[in-house]
Amino acid sequence: MNLEQSAIDLLRAQPAPKGLNFIDNEAVPAADGETMPVISPIDGSQLTTLAASAAVDMDRAVAAARRSFEAGVWSGMAPGERKKVMLKWADLIERHALEIAVLGSRDNGTDIRMALKGEPQSAAATIRFYAEAIDKRNGEITPTRKDVLSLIHKEPVGVVGVIIPWNFPLMIGAWKMAPALAAGNSVVVKPSEEAALSTLRVIELAAEAGMPPGVLNAVNGRGAVVGEALGLHMEVDVLAFTGSGGVGRRLLEYSARSNMKRVYLELGGKSPNLVFADAPDLAQAAKETAASIFRNNGQVCVAASRLAVEGSVYDDFMGLVRAEAQAMKIGDPLSLTNSTGALANAAQLAKTKSAVARALEQGAQLFQGGEQLNSASGGFYHQPTILTGVTADMDVVQQEVFGPVLAARAFDTEEEAIAIANETVYGLSSVVWTRDLSRAHRVAAKLKAGVVQVNCYSGADITAPLGGVRQSGNGSDRSLHAFEKYENCKATWIQL
Ligand code: NAD
Repeated sequence: MNLEQSAIDLLRAQPAPKGLNFIDNEAVPAADGETMPVISPIDGSQLTTLAASAAVDMDRAVAAARRSFEAGVWSGMAPGERKKVMLKWADLIERHALEIAVLGSRDNGTDIRMALKGEPQSAAATIRFYAEAIDKRNGEITPTRKDVLSLIHKEPVGVVGVIIPWNFPLMIGAWKMAPALAAGNSVVVKPSEEAALSTLRVIELAAEAGMPPGVLNAVNGRGAVVGEALGLHMEVDVLAFTGSGGVGRRLLEYSARSNMKRVYLELGGKSPNLVFADAPDLAQAAKETAASIFRNNGQVCVAASRLAVEGSVYDDFMGLVRAEAQAMKIGDPLSLTNSTGALANAAQLAKTKSAVARALEQGAQLFQGGEQLNSASGGFYHQPTILTGVTADMDVVQQEVFGPVLAARAFDTEEEAIAIANETVYGLSSVVWTRDLSRAHRVAAKLKAGVVQVNCYSGADITAPLGGVRQSGNGSDRSLHAFEKYENCKATWIQL
């Protein structure tokens, strides 16, 4: 899509809609009418309000989902018909893509180019991928003796609760909603209170596409209230979550305290980026290194926030990364002259500033950036920041910042690089730059990470799984394997 500033400006001038709940295909306020303000990170102003719901609203949404599931209006619909509805949904999202992207950008500060590609366009592609699979997946017959027929059916689990974060709400939301719906489940979404507006618009479009009432619902509000109510609900069969480790732990507790629902967690990371001196193209590696941590201000789960560079090219490489950081234009996310927008909220800005201060206190050196930007705007902006001389014991190496902060150091041997890569409790993504194919395979095999990228950053698409190991989570989003999270495997053994 060709982006024009005038079209963006027209959309941003529209008043932002109120963020209501969506239950049984109707937009409704919280039962008690409570709302909370939605603050735009662009300038700190109030954009609109969001329903501040209570457990009673969640009960209503889960009841609607359960009713629709048991009635079979979606779960029992012919696969080809379900597919048609989902494909129409994807078309509608694409038709409204710019409107949705501008709304999302006003809500969470992501620059408009990324907000468009990474959000509605990506969500539409994800929905199409799972929709297309609906009528192409067969059951199985297991090898038994001749007087038995043994069948494996994949059945939808029932009601799926989806809890999403604010950094890429549509991309991540679609990674969960689309396979869950394609499998025939009914879904209740708890959008992030920091970025709910675009999600709600997309959910509304599902109804317009023909999704029956009760199949896809949304309840807004504080995580500790409605997220907890969803997590503890006895009528929810599976919880699919992306967010922080702290909340992930709570969800496991909710499950244990309620109905032992399955809980799938996509959590944080502290992903390593290993640059060997024989990288195919150091300039390209530096460009992607900068993008891997500074795009969307580092508010990316797979951000390669720890850089380790082979000593012989360290100085040259760091110079290239610094030049990339300095070339970035940070500011209003809806201005096409800027490459990067605002951090999502005041708390993220404060977290970024304190992580930098703490790293300096612990002995890291400031190589680039380190300052808040554009404070007069009232918005939440920060320079791309590079810290050097970091060591394994520093907080900036062990703890996720989720801001534009790169922690860099040099290494001498392959073993040292691998040890650096595996030195945290996380295991989400990792990057390796080398033209030595044997080394690439050797290192990839030893990295404790769900994803390894060799000589590229973020080239993967919906066909490949994305998920973490260790404290980065369990299960994966994306790829056909995602269906496994939202289905039961039923064995039917028939004596003939
Ligand atoms: P968060 O954990 O604060 O919030 C995520 C969601 O959980 C929100 O909708 C929130 O309202 C809800 N929530 C909060 N408290 C809850 C509770 N007690 N019970 C139930 N729900 C509750 O995370 P965030 O700040 O929105 O997102 C940033 C985090 O997400 C980072 O750690 C990042 O790495 C992670 N993330 C991971 C991936 C991945 O694919 N692995 C992708 C993006 C973001």
